[in-house]
Amino acid sequence: MNYQDIIRKQRHFFNTNSTKDISFRITELKRLKSILSDNEEFLYKAIYKDFKKSKYETYTTELSLIYHEIDLALANIKKWSKKRKVATGMANFPSKGYVIPEPYGTTLIIGAWNYPYQLSFAPVVAAIAAGCTIILKPSEISAHAAAAMAQLINTNFNPDFFTVIEGGIAETTEVLTHKFDKIFFTGSVPVGKIIYQAAAKHLTPVTLELGGKSPAIITKDVNMDLTAKRLVWAKFLNAGQTCIAPDYVLVEATAQKSFLAAIKKHIIQAEYALENQNYTQIINQKNFNRLKELIDQDKVFYGGELDTENRIISPTIMTDITLEDAIMQHEIFGPILPIVSFNTIDNAIAIIKTFAKPLSCYIFTKNKTIKNKILNEVSFGGGAVNDAVMHIIENNLPFGGVGESGIGNYHAKAGFDAFSHNKSVLQKSFWLELNLKYSPYTSSKLKWLKRLIG
Ligand code: NAD
Repeated sequence: MNYQDIIRKQRHFFNTNSTKDISFRITELKRLKSILSDNEEFLYKAIYKDFKKSKYETYTTELSLIYHEIDLALANIKKWSKKRKVATGMANFPSKGYVIPEPYGTTLIIGAWNYPYQLSFAPVVAAIAAGCTIILKPSEISAHAAAAMAQLINTNFNPDFFTVIEGGIAETTEVLTHKFDKIFFTGSVPVGKIIYQAAAKHLTPVTLELGGKSPAIITKDVNMDLTAKRLVWAKFLNAGQTCIAPDYVLVEATAQKSFLAAIKKHIIQAEYALENQNYTQIINQKNFNRLKELIDQDKVFYGGELDTENRIISPTIMTDITLEDAIMQHEIFGPILPIVSFNTIDNAIAIIKTFAKPLSCYIFTKNKTIKNKILNEVSFGGGAVNDAVMHIIENNLPFGGVGESGIGNYHAKAGFDAFSHNKSVLQKSFWLELNLKYSPYTSSKLKWLKRLIG
């Protein structure tokens, strides 16, 4: 495919200023929503072919989030894109100051496979709202979902405004050689580094939504039953293939026994057996084999069952974990939950700090001092106190990582900002000129300058 040609046409279209018109953006957002809602069954079938993701989870964790982002953008787009007045100082008296959010221009959005619709279309919504043109490259790993997106978008949108290109490493490498005005990437840390390097060649701004080992810390004073219930949902949703899933649990040593009993009870209650039709497959054989290798059967407290033919791994809890174990070396990204016990909160924090700054952190405690200590001492992208994963749906909580877990954030207004440049303007008038900045530089002018601007 001739990417140069697509980019040139999109740049030309952007330069017609059509996307700067708010009514254009509103029309395109509505178009996206109606295309998705009219084709839900088509989208469910495609994702089911990729990794047997159920309708229920596809709606709740993908489509509903996209619809919500569209509705929010439609309700707020005028406010978000409005010129904002700001105060100006005495040195420029008389003057006005304002900030104009302007669209970056021609953008590239690269998605991951684990939530293929949401991770592609949530940034697309933000880009449309901000007034950018878009080339979307979904992950080739969830191939059916990628083809479904390409079919729906490429038959319904003007390609000079929004188009989907399909492809894997070779195609992405090729497209990345071209200049964009913004690149938004969701995926792994190693590929994030490749994207950042390619963007740097053109000084293109990036948002990088990456991953890492996200901890859940549990102290002995919590409601253990509800803690376990919330964690079981957060971890085994999408069979653990969630960037913000709790990767490992740090539980206060004296509470480990009651936590293990509660977590086992909730896995059984959720009916996550191998034959559960609503339990997602592992995406491919490569990942299935990788996860299989991570399960040390001697350390399995519960689960550990494998259905190789269907690429299913039952919810697996591992105990007696040390930081040297294979399971603690990289992000797990599957339905295996290692439990590590700790004696003091300093001990737990020290363990978290042996890893790169995580994308998420979950603190389960009733102890305010401990909660504040973790919030103060541990750097992480975002998270929750007494819950896991649910922070992602809050409009007023920008979503993103820090350090190795990512650069920048999005969702709702933060998404609009990710695709906008804040153009700052000072506006002067002609009716007065203080003349203090001009030569000749006299001592009386300096005296006045000091009085006016300090
Ligand atoms: P990945 O990095 O392998 O792939 C992501 C995208 O990059 C795909 O579109 C792929 O085609 C492309 N890509 C892969 N290799 C490339 C290369 N060498 N050069 C250029 N492009 C390349 O990630 P993945 O396996 O799809 O997703 C899993 C990872 O993504 C996990 O680490 C997870 O934590 C992270 N993730 C993060 C978020 C978030 O919002 N922060 C969301 C989902 C997943």
